[in-house]
Amino acid sequence: MIVVMNHNSSAASVKQVVEFVENAGLKTQVSRGEERTVIGLIGDKTKIDRSVLESLQDVAEIIDVSKPYKRAAREMHPDDTVITLDNGLKIGGKHEPVVMAGPCTVENWEMLIEIAKAVKAAGAKVLRGGAWKPRTSPYAFQGLGEEGLKLLAKARAETGLPVVSELMDTKEIPLFLEYVDIIQIGARNMQNFSLLKELGKIDKPILLKRGLAATIEEWLMSAEYILAGGNTKVLLCERGIRTMEKYTRNTLDLSAVPVIKKMSHLPIIIDPSHAVGHWDYVPSMSKAAIVAGADGLIIEVHSNPEKAACDGGQCLKPKLFGDLMKDVKDLMKYR
Ligand code: PEP
Ligand code: MN
Repeated sequence: MIVVMNHNSSAASVKQVVEFVENAGLKTQVSRGEERTVIGLIGDKTKIDRSVLESLQDVAEIIDVSKPYKRAAREMHPDDTVITLDNGLKIGGKHEPVVMAGPCTVENWEMLIEIAKAVKAAGAKVLRGGAWKPRTSPYAFQGLGEEGLKLLAKARAETGLPVVSELMDTKEIPLFLEYVDIIQIGARNMQNFSLLKELGKIDKPILLKRGLAATIEEWLMSAEYILAGGNTKVLLCERGIRTMEKYTRNTLDLSAVPVIKKMSHLPIIIDPSHAVGHWDYVPSMSKAAIVAGADGLIIEVHSNPEKAACDGGQCLKPKLFGDLMKDVKDLMKYR
């Protein structure tokens, strides 16, 4: 249930509604937009006397929210959420789409800093790199762990690029708080609810990837776990879903962009690399995502993909990434 307040409603009227609702044992989420202020009610709404609520000062309308996700719902928060990183970079809303780029996994310092400088020169604003890797095979390279995070932090110090890396286990949260700017939750952990609950307790942006075969509603419910804990900095990331199609690694659900924009206020980032799984399909899907209105891209780049420890076949070489970044800039006018 949401309470829509009159235009120019006073702070006192908003306070009165919040107190009325909280006294009945529910929680509230106040969203002051440019157009209007809405107050979201979370909890057992049968405890609310609707006629009293309607009669309070400046209450314009009461709307029932039927969706199972509340805090992630656009109705509860009409304005787009904009997430600000520690260096001031803003993601979401009317801000220019942010491109995150880098290797699938951090392999060593020389390779990381070479790629970091190249993606920065091309216009990327965030450096990606895995340190803990969710590999299908236990015998495949599992990542450098803490050493990988330290190398990412060193690359940030050298280039000024904030860094994003995947967290797989709650026990590593303190390390991620120290070394990264955005915590990625991979597709395989989208429904790791105990992990999501812990992320709700911290104040760090979370890039929540869509599960391998998750519906948009399941994905938003996972975001809800983080938001419900109090962490409002959630970025959604579409990275392809599993279908019967075999020519691509996954199927990029680009329609998730307008759907998410309608259903939610959270920014949406597209990962074309894991979606298609082949470097030569990445540029076209990146461009399509920009025109569709995505708030950003996360792209795998490697200077020597043939020798990459992980996902070499889908990495762009720096030159091609640079060309793509020029096209991305040209396409901004179609947004
Ligand atoms: C990754 O970003 O390297 C990764 C493993 O992604 P996903 O969880 O989307 O497969
Ligand atoms: Mn990868």
